[in-house]
Amino acid sequence: MEKTNYFDKSFYICEAQADKYTHIIIYPMKTKRVNRRDFFRLSATAGVSAIVVPGAAAAARTGLLSGNESEIPVRTLGRTGVKLPILSMGVMRADNPNVVRAAYNSGIFHFDTAHGYQNGKNEEMLGKFFTGKARDSFFIATKGKFDYPLKEDFEETYGKLMDLSLQRLNMDHVDLFYTHALDKVEEVKDERVIAVLKKFKEEGKTRFIGFSAHAGKPELLDAAVETGVYDVILLSYNFKLSNLKETEDAIARAAKAGIGLVAMKTMTGGTEDAAGKKKINAEACLKWAWKNEHITTAIPGFSNYDELEECLAAARNPELTSGEQEYLASLCGQEMLYCQQCGKCRTQCPEHLPIPDIMRAYMYAYGYKYSRMSKETLAELELSPDICSNCETCQVTCPSGFDVSAKIAAITPVMQVPNEFLT
Ligand code: SF4
Ligand code: SF4
Repeated sequence: MEKTNYFDKSFYICEAQADKYTHIIIYPMKTKRVNRRDFFRLSATAGVSAIVVPGAAAAARTGLLSGNESEIPVRTLGRTGVKLPILSMGVMRADNPNVVRAAYNSGIFHFDTAHGYQNGKNEEMLGKFFTGKARDSFFIATKGKFDYPLKEDFEETYGKLMDLSLQRLNMDHVDLFYTHALDKVEEVKDERVIAVLKKFKEEGKTRFIGFSAHAGKPELLDAAVETGVYDVILLSYNFKLSNLKETEDAIARAAKAGIGLVAMKTMTGGTEDAAGKKKINAEACLKWAWKNEHITTAIPGFSNYDELEECLAAARNPELTSGEQEYLASLCGQEMLYCQQCGKCRTQCPEHLPIPDIMRAYMYAYGYKYSRMSKETLAELELSPDICSNCETCQVTCPSGFDVSAKIAAITPVMQVPNEFLT
């Protein structure tokens, strides 16, 4: 019998028996995200797919997946040769292992986490969930961040970071390890970084190596091609990119060089308005990203059953309709929550504030409604408490039309909010 013990007193626990599996379904009392209808729908889903999907997921790894076994198309992740469904799970926001279970049972195979997500609890949750499951029935990616320029003890501290991630995940290796959030060409090409990544691979701690990049900088992809060592790049890719043509050209060059491409930030912040009030059409966003055949898979950060279902609906019918195309086109000229991470504001700001990262934190809180991640992101920036106080007027003119100082004023108070009050 498979059991999860990942619950606390705020949850009700229900059980749904399915042939040889017992699923413990936990749903929160405090929110209305899962209602009675959702519960029965999920129970039914778990019962059916538990029998079918683990085998299908394992088959996907070896390239045997046929259209009859899973309704989600698969693509090959560059030179790794690994076949992945076009829909993966960005686990970042998820803290309910039963959403992970529902994704796994629905044929999702690739789960993306990071060392820093939820202060390590995200990796721990996945470690508990995957314990006892066939190692070839899932593909796990994690990420580790480092400060640049590198400190003297970089190799040692980064090695410890990797070991701690493996310990939390309760695995002897991950499938993919990314250096997290690279922003400069010299970071991608840094010999010390490359040497550590190669060592992780040689030691069998990861099968493949890559990097993630929030910034829409095509030059990072070209730098990766030049090094010849990165197997996969996790990049921001969406219909709002201001340098879409340059990005797609660089994606094509990277794909030609055998690098696997994974898309994030496909939902451009989760809402279609700058105030963060109107949810974006997630299906349209995902289908748009999958139109690019070089994108192997996308990692939307769904954290509840409704969001998962929306993503699954897109993956099972990934053709972008003309209506969806028109909808996305109508959003192109509109100010939304998505910061292009172009960095133009950094040079304009006399304090050289890490504005792109602060805008990302803003998006997490106002778009994803995930204020904890927002606080964590800001904490990493070590901002002074009197940020912006030396300016009478903000010097920054953002090409996306962001009122940068207003957004900074709106998000930095989250740093003072105790964690128990955050979403
Ligand atoms: S705030 Fe504006 S200028 Fe700064 S990185 Fe974002 S889009 Fe670029
Ligand atoms: S008000 Fe604008 S220019 Fe001044 S420190 Fe803040 S972001 Fe920089």
